[in-house]
Amino acid sequence: MDATGASPKFMLQLLRMGVLDDVNIDVLTFPCARCGSPITEGRYCKNCTEVVGEALAETAKNAHEREERLKNLPRMTRRR
Ligand SMILES: [Zn+2]
Repeated sequence: MDATGASPKFMLQLLRMGVLDDVNIDVLTFPCARCGSPITEGRYCKNCTEVVGEALAETAKNAHEREERLKNLPRMTRRR
């Protein structure tokens, strides 16, 4: 529950209010934000945590490379 910031008690409250209807009361699981597998903590199941983690790392790397390219581009064109 740490990642969502919602306590189990709060989740149950939402359930009773009908806000969350895909939460299983008995084991208090909720769907993984990516694949929908039932999970009990965090936002993603174990599988997706790995996949998403890799994707995020890749995105950050790409963004950094793009930044470097943009930084170098004006200098290179000016030199000509
Ligand atoms: Zn998943």
